Amino acid sequence: METAARTYEIRTYGCQMNVHDSERLSGLLESAGYVRAEDAEPDVVVFNTCAVRENADNRLYGNLGHLRPVKDGHPGMQIAVGGCLAQKDRDTIAKRAPWVDVVFGTHNIGSLPALLERARVQSEAQVEIEESLVTFPSTLPTRRESPYAAWVSISVGCNNTCTFCIVPSLRGKEKDRRPGEILAEVEALVAEGVLEVTLLGQNVNAYGSGFGALSAAPDEVRAMTEGGQSAFAGLLRACGGVEGLERVRFTSPHPKDFTDDVIAAMAETPNVTPSLHMPLQSGSDAVLRAMRRSYRQERYLGIIEKVRAAIPDAAITTDIIVGFPGETEADFEETLHVVREARFSSAFTFQYSKRPGTPAATMDGQLPKEVVQERYERLIALQEEISWAENKKQLGRTLEVLVAEGEGRKDEETRRLSGRARDNRLVHFTAPDERVRPGDMVTVEVTYAAPHHLVADKPVLDVRRTRAGDAWETRQGEGQDAGQKGVALGMPSIGRPAQPASPVNGCS
Ligand code: SF4
Repeated sequence: METAARTYEIRTYGCQMNVHDSERLSGLLESAGYVRAEDAEPDVVVFNTCAVRENADNRLYGNLGHLRPVKDGHPGMQIAVGGCLAQKDRDTIAKRAPWVDVVFGTHNIGSLPALLERARVQSEAQVEIEESLVTFPSTLPTRRESPYAAWVSISVGCNNTCTFCIVPSLRGKEKDRRPGEILAEVEALVAEGVLEVTLLGQNVNAYGSGFGALSAAPDEVRAMTEGGQSAFAGLLRACGGVEGLERVRFTSPHPKDFTDDVIAAMAETPNVTPSLHMPLQSGSDAVLRAMRRSYRQERYLGIIEKVRAAIPDAAITTDIIVGFPGETEADFEETLHVVREARFSSAFTFQYSKRPGTPAATMDGQLPKEVVQERYERLIALQEEISWAENKKQLGRTLEVLVAEGEGRKDEETRRLSGRARDNRLVHFTAPDERVRPGDMVTVEVTYAAPHHLVADKPVLDVRRTRAGDAWETRQGEGQDAGQKGVALGMPSIGRPAQPASPVNGCS
């Protein structure tokens, strides 16, 4: 008699890196014969954790506690904990929650299926944490969540030491992936129908530094940097040569390493989108110094000015931390000044909270909650005003929108569809009579602007059926259990599109 495949569920916390790692965990599990649990209780629950937030550990143990009686009533159920918190807390997790079966770190996600099997056979918790990367994660099987847009890792880890950030100690030093491998993955994705890729790294502008001295770098890197061009600018231009790739995005750049040749590559490569997410964190030089972020306000605004000169329609977004230890009212005013000058189309704003293990957590000058809250509200009010004013400039414009799935919560009741413009603005548009699929492109005229989205309520001007739309349709036909068929090394597969993950502070 055939036994049913074991089912799994992955609960992801934190940043885009984790979202993409979860695509790999899904791919690994499906390659090993597991299938995604749809409605029923899963046989395996994997927590892909984040250590960025204060109290992240309390929340994890709370969730694990809730799962304990479920596990007791479900023979054979296994629980695995991976990600940054697992890397940080290691043995503690198995001690505090002995009903956990597997603990694995950020450097060895490829071991998950073997660890689950070993835990099952030995009836004993398996804890395996590596200090450095075992396999570059992009060589692992991946279950892509979207048929039209994909993350592509170009590097992991970070060589910076921002005092609020736990990433360097948990993800290690920057390691770069060879350009040939990155481009091969991009080409494979495009061949599967993907139209948009987002190049992913903690500090994409430092791409290339992970190979060490240029003289020691692979030939392909040296070719890319000929004439003194930075490796990241070379990579963007190389993505411009991938036929069928319509949109290239990247996240996140660090202002310290942002070079003019990257701006030129953005402006001169037609498929690189007119959008830039560049973390500010603070507008105050004193706070930036305390954060150990080595650019200053003048440099940040200088980059924005150059980007605006080269790409006038660029939508620029950012991350800002309010209430970093020692931040004075005058420091905060500097942040408001940058926000007014930069005119971000939107900003991810965070109230500073201590992350255990980071230098900032023990700094003097921690601010009372009410001070941080009051500043935060002022910042939000200003940014909302600017976002709205910037969006109003889009009224009457004609935009090409990549139709998305799951981006418009009210689409059904408003009879609209939703998608992203080239600059990544969210657009809700009236559904045309003809059928439009996620992954297709529509051309619409903007009729209304809200601070966080645009509306196009006139009839759609054009519908372009795409390979991505075909790929989406094929997936629907294959059904939800088609996961195993779609898993391949670094290749797309079946699934729901990734929800847009907001950056969780810093570059992560
Ligand atoms: S905030 Fe970004 S640049 Fe700074 S240490 Fe963290 S990952 Fe690196």
